Amino acid sequence: MRITDYELYEVPPRWQFLKLETSDGAVGWGEPYSKWHYQGDAPSATPAAVDQMMEKYVLGEDPARIEDLWQAMYRSSFYRGGPIHMSAIAGIDQALWDLKGKRFGAPVYELLGGPARDRVRAYQHVSVPSVEEVDDPAAAAAREAEGHVADGFRALKLVPTPGLELVDSPASVDAASEVVGAVREAVGAEVDVAVDFHGRASKTMARQLAAALEPHDPMFVEEPVTPEHDHALPRIVESTRLPIATGERLYTRSDFRPLFEADAVDVVQPDVSNAGGITETKKIADMAETYDVSVAPHCPMGPLCTAASLQIDAAVPNALVQEQILHKVEGAFRYVENPGMFDVVDGFIDVPEGPGLGVEIDGATVEEWDGRDLSFTRPLGRRADGSVGER
Ligand SMILES: [Mg+2]
Repeated sequence: MRITDYELYEVPPRWQFLKLETSDGAVGWGEPYSKWHYQGDAPSATPAAVDQMMEKYVLGEDPARIEDLWQAMYRSSFYRGGPIHMSAIAGIDQALWDLKGKRFGAPVYELLGGPARDRVRAYQHVSVPSVEEVDDPAAAAAREAEGHVADGFRALKLVPTPGLELVDSPASVDAASEVVGAVREAVGAEVDVAVDFHGRASKTMARQLAAALEPHDPMFVEEPVTPEHDHALPRIVESTRLPIATGERLYTRSDFRPLFEADAVDVVQPDVSNAGGITETKKIADMAETYDVSVAPHCPMGPLCTAASLQIDAAVPNALVQEQILHKVEGAFRYVENPGMFDVVDGFIDVPEGPGLGVEIDGATVEEWDGRDLSFTRPLGRRADGSVGER
């Protein structure tokens, strides 16, 4: 069997679905991560990298040789790693695992050692509106959180601050604490509430914010600082009893290694569509296990990324909770013929049953939406003095 053809679709909201075809008519799907997003008519950077990898190293090859193809795609580039290269590899790698699973009639996790759990905890995002949008952001977030719990979620996550000064006022810290406190009060102690600083805090403010949120017992604090400042994590970890999470902007085992060696993190969040696919993410999860670190795969993307993440969650002993946005994004399930595989019951998604990634893609609908409504401009954060900050 040989890989004979491929097609990369770009569909709203800003997802990319890669289809691989083989000489015996099999089809495998994967999802690279759209970078640098779509700015007006300017293209995302990822498709060019996918084309390079496919044309040079994958077309004409045996899809069964996943590790070998991965090594070829990774080591062929003198300038390797990073968000574009590893995302292109990720999409191709997922499609190769999908093909392998379908070939053997088994979910991917069966090929990785079998299920280590029966179901996977999943969390839902709670939006926190700005003070410009509503009078009481904390109350609005609390109301939304109650709705998600009513819908079956037992874990939530929110970004508690719209942005911070390098050293900010007690009022900004209090506002963040008020939001998390309102959500905690609304959902009670039985529901987990994680917080994501989204890299918006300096290391100085990260410690202050974590201390202020401690009374509300968040499940973890995500990206207390941007990855450029991961050197500050050991001091942040030392400063708080809250679990510290990071990793959505790290792309390889080598990127994660310093965090493990410095005992700088409690939860790692590799993204199976960012970090070299199932092959590399599984290895990152295994490294984490040896350091008593749990894994919460990052996945604010589409159904293939979510399904591939569930395969990792199923296979590894240290999976903590799975991010997903499918239950919040309008039209997310239009591309999927078996959306029931993502149902959340009592806070959990069942381990997938179907072969490969387990998700059945509606190819006709993907073609229908290909290239439509892709424009997405990431907002630029500015501090009170007009200087550029983090968002
Ligand atoms: Mg995040």
